[in-house]
Amino acid sequence: GHIPALGGSDGSRAWFDRAQASLAGGISSSSRLTSTGPHPYPLYMAEGAGARIRDIDGNEYLDYLISYGSAVLGHANPQLTEALTAVLRTGTMFGTCNTTEVELAELICDMVPCAELVRFANSGSEAVQGAVRAARGYTGRSKILKFEGHYHGWTDSLAISNRPAVSEAGPYATPHSVPHSPGIPAGVIDDVVVCPWNDPAALRAVLDAHRGEFAAVICEPIVANNACTMPAPGFLNLLREECTRREIVLVFDEVCTGFRTGPGGAQTMFGVVPDIAVFSKALGGGVPIAAFAGQRHVMEPLAQGQVKHGGTYNASPLCATSALVTLRQLNQPDVTKRIDESGRRIMEAIRRAAHDRHIPCSVQGVGAMFQTVFTADGAPTRQYRDLLLTDQARYNAFRHELLKRGIHTNAYGMACWFVAATVTEDDLDATCEAVEGAFGVL
Ligand code: PMP
Repeated sequence: GHIPALGGSDGSRAWFDRAQASLAGGISSSSRLTSTGPHPYPLYMAEGAGARIRDIDGNEYLDYLISYGSAVLGHANPQLTEALTAVLRTGTMFGTCNTTEVELAELICDMVPCAELVRFANSGSEAVQGAVRAARGYTGRSKILKFEGHYHGWTDSLAISNRPAVSEAGPYATPHSVPHSPGIPAGVIDDVVVCPWNDPAALRAVLDAHRGEFAAVICEPIVANNACTMPAPGFLNLLREECTRREIVLVFDEVCTGFRTGPGGAQTMFGVVPDIAVFSKALGGGVPIAAFAGQRHVMEPLAQGQVKHGGTYNASPLCATSALVTLRQLNQPDVTKRIDESGRRIMEAIRRAAHDRHIPCSVQGVGAMFQTVFTADGAPTRQYRDLLLTDQARYNAFRHELLKRGIHTNAYGMACWFVAATVTEDDLDATCEAVEGAFGVL
């Protein structure tokens, strides 16, 4: 279980310098710059096995980013490698129907309560777009209600108020719709109405103010992108009741929670069934695949071909095979139970270390995905604006101290840790030791 201390990262620095000349900003995704941690350059990872990864300078880490939860069975999982190698030998994609996509859809329908009909895509952003298209096509309405701070991908449709600055966010109960980037048209922004999370009165007010206008209400049931803020008791039920009463399509974005928090995702955990759920990340076990899966009535216009959705790469044999092997594993209750127990051990270690040193913090979420937030009074966050009041400098220091001790986590304090199914007892001992060490110098 020995984790070597972080050595130099000159190689990463050199490649990042080189990348400036050919990659826009030296990166392939805007969030990768915030994943740099203590350095002014990102770490370049070279290989992984199980819960461990190694960077190009030879530093080894226990990986609690695991590609944002995607490599849920661990890196270079032998079973997956074998299955994917077989596909490589016979053709990775044909752009036609294939039998694996059918088996995969059947399994998803077995595992997920809301899933009666499934469509595949390649990324979370794409699948959210598919869900929104289906909801608009079904209802004939155009407005979407989203919650402040929740993240649903980078598309125009929803890259709004996922991380607004305090100065732009507007009034608490009726936040402004703040585009995350230049280049999002005004008409699209007007169609997205923003509401604070976990606030029944604010929710009812915004639904009343736009009576008959909403196609969908979309949320992250556990807000992975807000440091795993949990739903207040009854809040998801309230969303369900209001959407049913007003004939609005309820969409759960389970891109992070799906198949990781249990075989049936957050909707099973909380016992609230949405009309459509969106999946990616853990679904693919480390290859690009995503899905939106809904109840028959909302998916029917899509099934009939009136509502359109396409994609050359959708459910290719390569990606569908990876997902099928992964889901068969995650459908065994002891696998997700183990993930949860592993994560809870780390959560407890963080709580204990913080408690011993009288450092107020909330360790929130579930074992499979959690985060530490340094709130002034140690209370859990309830919504996005609470996060703006947390001690981000302390989080960054904690994360840096962990990295020095060989623990790789998300650099962004509003995101979270993800736990792999292959984390070992040794790995957990080493992680808890690193947590103690990090708090010792905080
Ligand atoms: N929804 C949620 C909840 C996410 O966390 C993400 C990605 N972090 C997305 C959607 C978008 O997924 P992708 O990056 O695959 O487009």
